[in-house]
Amino acid sequence: MAEQLTPEQAAALQEKLKQMSPEQIQELVKKQCVFCRIVAGEIPSKKVYEDDNFLAFLDINPANIGHVLVVTKDHFSVLPQLPNELAAKYFVLVKELSARIYDALGAQGINILQNNGPAAGQEVPHIHIHIIPRFEEDGVRFTWEPKKAEESEVDAVLNKIKAKAKDIDIKGVSVSKKKEVIEMTEEREQFDSKGAAPSPARRIP
Ligand code: AMP
Repeated sequence: MAEQLTPEQAAALQEKLKQMSPEQIQELVKKQCVFCRIVAGEIPSKKVYEDDNFLAFLDINPANIGHVLVVTKDHFSVLPQLPNELAAKYFVLVKELSARIYDALGAQGINILQNNGPAAGQEVPHIHIHIIPRFEEDGVRFTWEPKKAEESEVDAVLNKIKAKAKDIDIKGVSVSKKKEVIEMTEEREQFDSKGAAPSPARRIP
């Protein structure tokens, strides 16, 4: 467990942080962050995929064997900090990887999990997406007791979220339409109309 700082040490640290530039703080964060250190090659990992922006590697404590973590190479703590263009690529990569993990392992399902903040169970404060291959009766559980509330309370919450969601504008986020994506869409349409077999990347239920 990490040692607690005395009040004097904490005050001295805060003073030091105040004097540092954002770049220096970013460097300090990178030195402390386990996933930044994996990206830098300072901590070993079992890599499954790498490009300029992302790294995917096996989780050291997997829910099932083949549980993959996909991290951004730059340090962001939580999802909302991610620039939209990167977020769009991130999701395409997770989709592509999950289809391949599903095929490679003969899985029967896939869970995509992404925790933000300690209250949500985030242990490593560097954005990461879990891709968990699933098998019948594998014993992995994501369960909760359904919360009960009066309809008025539910509606009050609904209205709060809707008010915040009003200004979302993703029209400007462009992801180039790759040939492959267009072909897969056409194939999907054929499948829907003729009942033809879907391609492997389409087999996830
Ligand atoms: P989360 O609870 O969403 O923050 O998940 C963090 C995940 O990172 C856990 O599933 C850990 O097993 C995994 N993890 C932590 N350190 C390492 C490491 N050095 N290599 C691979 N996975 C790790």
